[in-house]
Amino acid sequence: MKCPVCHYLDTKVIDSRASSDGLSIRRRRECLKCGFRFSTNEEMEILDLVIVKRDGRRESYSREKLIKGLKKALEKRPITEDSFKKLVHVIERDLQVLKKNEITSLQVGQIVMKHLKRADQVAYIRFASVYESFKDAQEFRKELNKLLGKRKIVKKGK
Ligand SMILES: [Zn+2]
Repeated sequence: MKCPVCHYLDTKVIDSRASSDGLSIRRRRECLKCGFRFSTNEEMEILDLVIVKRDGRRESYSREKLIKGLKKALEKRPITEDSFKKLVHVIERDLQVLKKNEITSLQVGQIVMKHLKRADQVAYIRFASVYESFKDAQEFRKELNKLLGKRKIVKKGK
């Protein structure tokens, strides 16, 4: 980390503190040459996590892909940038908690859905249907009905 004042390349970390969600670290640093103190906010990135797709292909985890999928599901839905960021964070936290090097795309999808369900139910349904995580149409309908609550569809005539 370069000193912003004298551009010396060596700094000492005086203090580091993880954010409440555990996904970023704030570090207080001191330049070893001029003694200037400054702080950095480092976002943690998930590394070395391999996603096993349903056809067996493997690819490394990508936050960009997660964001792309979430944005698609949340298109035109009322969600603030801050809530969106938090959503990405909680999903990644859950991925990290698993402490695995490999995880199936199905597991990722389940984690995403768990959090989307809380954040936005329309987005949840969109994601779930795109994701095809339901074994069949019946299961999907069941889930949909659960979300729609007790509203009953009244059939007219015969
Ligand atoms: Zn310096």
